[in-house]
Amino acid sequence: MLEEKIKQLKEETIKKISEVANLEQLRELEIYFLGRKGELTKILRTLGDLSIEERAKAGDLANKIKNELTLEIQKARQNLGEKTDGSSEKEWIDVTAVKEKEEFGHLHPISIVQYELEDIFTSMGFMVLDGPELESDYYNFEALNIPSWHPARDMQDTFYVEGENLLMRTQTSSMQVRAMEKYGAPLRVVVPGRCFRNEATDVRHEHTFYQLEGFMVGKDISVANLKAVLEVVAKKLYGDDTKVKLRPKFYPFVEPGINGEVTCFLCKGKGCRVCKNTGWLEIFGAGLIHPNVLKFGKIDSKKWSGFAFGFGLTRLAMLKYEIDDVRLLCGGDLRFLKQF
Ligand SMILES: [Zn+2]
Repeated sequence: MLEEKIKQLKEETIKKISEVANLEQLRELEIYFLGRKGELTKILRTLGDLSIEERAKAGDLANKIKNELTLEIQKARQNLGEKTDGSSEKEWIDVTAVKEKEEFGHLHPISIVQYELEDIFTSMGFMVLDGPELESDYYNFEALNIPSWHPARDMQDTFYVEGENLLMRTQTSSMQVRAMEKYGAPLRVVVPGRCFRNEATDVRHEHTFYQLEGFMVGKDISVANLKAVLEVVAKKLYGDDTKVKLRPKFYPFVEPGINGEVTCFLCKGKGCRVCKNTGWLEIFGAGLIHPNVLKFGKIDSKKWSGFAFGFGLTRLAMLKYEIDDVRLLCGGDLRFLKQF
């Protein structure tokens, strides 16, 4: 008798489906017959009164019919959708349809430059490390040979957390001593990341910017090793005819300190607007790691030496894409970002 009821329900539903005029009616029909409080569910609730055997049989039949009806409704929905193509009634979504994969978003220009450098350095055996952006005064300044009285701090004002001795790191160099403590010597590391300074913003200054710090600690490391590594990097970035020029410059955590320039990749050294007609672009600061910094990192400066360097990722991205306002990079303006 129950089987009869189920079959009867099927006939009735199929007939009604054929009479349906729009998607709304079809949805009502679906709920009426197949919904959680629908007719089929009502019948299935009475299964409890049957013997196990009968229950299994009727249950199978009910499921079979439920599947058949679901299919019928799907078909009807498709037909209705097709009839009213383009109208608001076409709401049916075929979840099984195969669609070509869509690309959502893309890399930010700074990420492009960062990954490019990471690839170059990992190919030379450097580890890529991450570090905290909220950093202690110790790792950001003290351990880099910049005690609280040192005038170099004046050039790197930043945002401090009151009473905590914490600050937003001014440089990715803050990872030097952290990495030395953790891994000891020998060591090859690059640290890309976000840095912060208390700047009045204009086309060339931004309170948030990106750097890539790198350093190497080993036996008998000298400026020659530093130059060799950075020459490889410059050539991979800008082509085989790129030259590197090193000039002395003061940084408290290196001795000697070096200002690194490379042949301008836009004019190939002839002189242009971007390189201010010098033919050279200043793209990194570097030097041999100060023995005090090695000491802070618990590395014996009599046995080991090293070099360190820092690239401005923000600056590299601006050069690469000829971006003339640094504020565009973190401004979140899609008209700008969609160009990359
Ligand atoms: Zn140039």
